[in-house]
Order: sequence, then C-alpha cells, then structure tokens
Amino acid sequence: MHPMIDFKYARKRKELADLMQEKGIRDPRVLAAINKIERHKFIPDSALHSHAYEDKAFPIGAGQTISHPYTVSFQSQLLEVKPGDKILEIGTGSGYQAAVLAELGADLYTIERQKELYDKTTPFLKSLGYTNIKFYYGDGYLGKPAFAPFDKIIITAAAPEIPTKLLDQLKIGGILVIPLDDKQGAQDMLRLTKIGSKEFKREEFEKFAFVPMLKGQAE
Ligand code: SAH
Repeated sequence: MHPMIDFKYARKRKELADLMQEKGIRDPRVLAAINKIERHKFIPDSALHSHAYEDKAFPIGAGQTISHPYTVSFQSQLLEVKPGDKILEIGTGSGYQAAVLAELGADLYTIERQKELYDKTTPFLKSLGYTNIKFYYGDGYLGKPAFAPFDKIIITAAAPEIPTKLLDQLKIGGILVIPLDDKQGAQDMLRLTKIGSKEFKREEFEKFAFVPMLKGQAE
C-alpha cells in the first residue's frame, strides 16, 4: 500500500478517537483501540474506505452493518473489560467490535448467525493476528453453555427481550450489555450486573440504533 494512504488513515483514526472522547468516551484503553484498529479493512466496499473513520454504520453484506464507532466504544466502555475476562459476544458481523474487545485483552467467544459473515470474518480476524478470539456459527440466543459462565456478555443487535439463557450463562458479579428494543424504532442501552443467581442491578443509558437480533441461524 502507498505510504501516503497509510498516513492519511492513521490521521483519520486519531481524529476518530478524538471524536469518541469529545462524545464522552473516557476509557483510555477503548480510545487507544479505536486509534489502532484499521476500520476500513472491516468494510467490504473499498469505495467507502475513505469514509471508514466517520462515526457511521456501513453495509457489510447479508443485509447487516458494521456498528457506529461510538456505539462500539460505548458498549466496550460499559463492559469494563479487564485483561483475561472471558467474554461472549452475540453478533460477530464485521468483527470490528470483536477486535476492540481483543485489543482490551478479552478471552473472546463470538457468535454469528449469518453463515456468509461467519465464513468471511473468521479468517479475516485470524489474519490480523488475533489469537484470543473463538468463532462460532449459530444462534446467539442460545449462548455457549459449554463455555459458561462468562465474566461479560455483549449483544450487538437489537434484542426484543433479554435472553434468559444468556443471563444464566453470566458469572455472579458479571456484566451483560444489551441494546433492548423500545418497540418505537430504537434501543435502550442496558447494563445488567448479576448480583445473585437470579438478581440483577439494572442501569439504563442512552438510545442507539441496531439491526435486529433474530432467532435461529441463516444459511
Ligand atoms: N459486532 C458487529 C455488529 C454487526 S450488526 C460489528 O462490529 O460489525 C449485528 C450482527 O448480529 C449481524 O451480523 C447479525 O447477523 C448478528 N445477529 C443477529 N441476531 C443474531 C443471533 N441471534 N445470533 C448471532 N448473531 C446474530
């Protein structure tokens, strides 16, 4: 690649990290990850690459989108990731959110229901050198009981309800971050902290817009 192009995107990445800070993201490790990860590589249409460091969602195939950088930063910050945290992500998509969590030191399990995206994103993230991510094709509503309990669970699609199977797969003291559909076209960002086997502390944050969390897996 031409060095000018690299330089241009490096500057844009820094500007995006600065924008995230202006918008209220405080976790320095999240900001460092945004500054580091080459978001344009997660967007299949190269005509969009010069826009990849704007705070926008873009198509990634199979009718899905890469989330806004602010959304990714906000959810990542809410998870309070500590190195070695065992984290389950629902909705691998482009892999951008997964890369941010991997940069934060997560031991990540990520599930995608679209075969096309699973097939594309798995080798792509491996090619970037992330060895702390395990990829699964399937229905995220079911979670990954074989690897439970998790320290943290993050859902990156609009959930019509809070999946009880995922709550069961969370450690006591663990955190689940979920955009819960408000049935009016947007989602409320919730953070649930498990304080007993059936007891949760519930915090509600601002509204976001996600593609829907769907049941079952797509071919
Ligand atoms: N984290 C992704 C967000 C992609 S959009 C990124 O950074 O790009 C949400 C993704 O969730 C889509 O790829 C969609 O196919 C997936 N999804 C929706 N419902 C799901 C389910 N039940 N299980 C697993 N993945 C799901």
